[in-house]
Amino acid sequence: LVERMRAYGETVFAEMSRLAAETGAINLGQGFPDTDGPRSLIEAAAGRIRDGVNQYPPGPGRPELRAAVAADRAERFGTEYDPDGEVYITVGATAGIAASVLAMVEPGDEVVLFEPMYDSYAAVVSLAGGVRRPVPLRPGPDGRFTFDPAELRAAVGPRTRMVVVNSPHNPTGTVLTRAELEEIAAVCREHDLIALTDEVYEHLLFDGAEHVPLASLPGMRERTVAVSSVGKTFSVTAWKTGWVMGPAPLVRAVQTVNQFLTFSANGALQLAVAEAVTGEREWVRGQREALQAKRDRLSDGLDRAGFGVLRPQGTYFVMADVRPLGFKDGLELARTLPRTAGVACVPAQVLYDRVEEGRHLVRFAFCKRDEVLDDAADRLVRAFA
Ligand code: GLN
Repeated sequence: LVERMRAYGETVFAEMSRLAAETGAINLGQGFPDTDGPRSLIEAAAGRIRDGVNQYPPGPGRPELRAAVAADRAERFGTEYDPDGEVYITVGATAGIAASVLAMVEPGDEVVLFEPMYDSYAAVVSLAGGVRRPVPLRPGPDGRFTFDPAELRAAVGPRTRMVVVNSPHNPTGTVLTRAELEEIAAVCREHDLIALTDEVYEHLLFDGAEHVPLASLPGMRERTVAVSSVGKTFSVTAWKTGWVMGPAPLVRAVQTVNQFLTFSANGALQLAVAEAVTGEREWVRGQREALQAKRDRLSDGLDRAGFGVLRPQGTYFVMADVRPLGFKDGLELARTLPRTAGVACVPAQVLYDRVEEGRHLVRFAFCKRDEVLDDAADRLVRAFA
């Protein structure tokens, strides 16, 4: 293994899923739903495969899907992208993020990221030979995680090339407000930075929270690569179908790299998704409402068990402070919880460069059937309360 990747072992999601399987624990670690996406989407994909859509699609993706996601962005946010040259289909958001960082970050370039951060960001910055400059997200008195603009500005220097912005945010569930995004945009404009936005939870918003794409703010479209995917929107996390949108020169850079990573993504799934993007809006609305109720269901359970619950505004995840239970270290708790309580979670500290910031936090996924959430809550209450 190359030296720059030696710090990376098995991902925490894989470790905790394995532990859950070994112990028979309820797996609230890795974020994936335990029910299927819209029936019509699944039938459409199966139908396309039966119809013989089984050879390479064009490298940039099926034109139907590029047109569909561009039209959807324009309609929802007013940002226009040319499906030919400004939209590029990837093997999930993961490949879009990796290709973008590899295409734009030179060895020694600095990348500003908000921590805790989704695990692939750190690894791909390392792969590119870049240097991470973390900015902490911390909970305010209302339990909502946010950043200090002064800490953001202090993280930016002459070698900064890129800022990575994930909203709605995994694992904290924060949905950045327009004002917070304006702060980030101002820094990007002043220092001529590229913004890489990870918007995979763009539809999973609660309590009326609004998703604002960074690219929709003044002066940002020309410097932003926006990444999203279908896994979370349609509860099909195995489909690994995503996209990158941005100005043509940046998308061309992504394409140059990605053509040698995956070349293309699954064509039959792309055709099915192209129809669902507008055809299944009602399903997505229902899913959003269901998830909000699930957030409350699990948060209330964690609260009863004695965790310090930090209620999210979006995503699949709720963060919990383990200190009220008498623990100091979330990693220790996460490694024992499957055996002691029969529930698996994810220790948040592994998603920080500065581990101390998140030592006491664990993340639970609530994208599960109600009876599963109730069973998990009962087990935690029995173990701790
Ligand atoms: N996004 C999922 C999570 O945060 C995990 C995906 C993965 O296992 N790489 O739980």
